Amino acid sequence: MVPFLDLKAQYHSIKDEADAAVLKIMESCQFALGEEVATFEHKFAEYCQTRHAVAVNSGTSALHLSLLAAGVGPGDEVITVAMTFVATVAAIDYSGAKAVLVDVDPKTWTMDANQLEAAITPKTKAIIPVHLHGRVADMDAINAIADKHGLVVIEDAAQAHGAEYKGRRAGSLSRAGCFSFYPGKNLGAYGEGGAVVTDDEELANMVRVLRDWGQKGKYNHVHKGFNARMDGFQGAILNVKMGRIEDWTDARRAHAALYDKLLAGSGFGLPIQSNDCRHVYHVYALCTPDREAMQAHLTEQGIQSGIHYPIPVHLQPAYADLGGKKGDFPVSERLANEFVSLPMYAELSTDQIELVAAGVNSV
Ligand SMILES: *Cc1c(COP(=O)(O)O)cnc(C)c1O
Repeated sequence: MVPFLDLKAQYHSIKDEADAAVLKIMESCQFALGEEVATFEHKFAEYCQTRHAVAVNSGTSALHLSLLAAGVGPGDEVITVAMTFVATVAAIDYSGAKAVLVDVDPKTWTMDANQLEAAITPKTKAIIPVHLHGRVADMDAINAIADKHGLVVIEDAAQAHGAEYKGRRAGSLSRAGCFSFYPGKNLGAYGEGGAVVTDDEELANMVRVLRDWGQKGKYNHVHKGFNARMDGFQGAILNVKMGRIEDWTDARRAHAALYDKLLAGSGFGLPIQSNDCRHVYHVYALCTPDREAMQAHLTEQGIQSGIHYPIPVHLQPAYADLGGKKGDFPVSERLANEFVSLPMYAELSTDQIELVAAGVNSV
């Protein structure tokens, strides 16, 4: 059996440290924010090459609060991609702004910068590129267009911890970067968590205020805020994991390189390589026109697989109000029909990867 994801294997590799970290929180009773969370914020900012990190209770809150802190609200439009997890669009919706979607590039599977100008209107305030699967979007092209039109760029880096673009870390390539520490992400908490990273001190301070009921000083509510603080337990666990994240990322990249090599002759669409990017392979997906056959064949051999994501946002019933219809974003729609995600986590063995690749190659 090759599981799609094995969170237990990772826990057992850090068990002593993780157990001690949890007990320490119970002794200190710093359950919401506290010292461990503050320590994590320092470590994570350094890791992302930014001056500030503000820890929150989910990646969705990171997106939502950074949009609010950047001044986005009702009457504004925010451009993002149709091929993303629904949270990107949900956060735009929570801010009161309207999500305007564009398609992704057929090779990189991230925002197609060539489509941005046509989507910009006088109401456009921000752009949220998504570093899908752990590959950084084409930030130079996106930032150039944003600068020309005076727009804010906020990265959805929920899948891209430690990813790089021309030597700079994901999250440091725009006004603010938003991360998720959902357990299955490359850096996963033992519960929910997220963070906003930024060089902009004013934006960081605003996210700090908004995550804690809009307070400046106790019971002085200067903004309509939220309960979006990170738990002490999550800060403590994430501090343990910060010591391992680079090793785990290197392992993911080595696994991906082996998949690339073993699947090179398969004829399926594979993640493309780029010299100036450090892809961190939150997901290793391939494209096949007959996904059902591929997944059935893999299941037969005890290999689990996934789909990220089977329905693009513009075709989701909940977002019918965006006015999307079939045919609007052909690349996203094709990828939604063709993507198959293969098992990908640091603890995978070479034998398991070879088994998966043999399974794919024998479809
Ligand atoms: C996971 C994810 C989110 C949301 O993060 P949560 O911590 O689950 O709220 C947002 N965007 C993308 C692309 C994600 O993968």
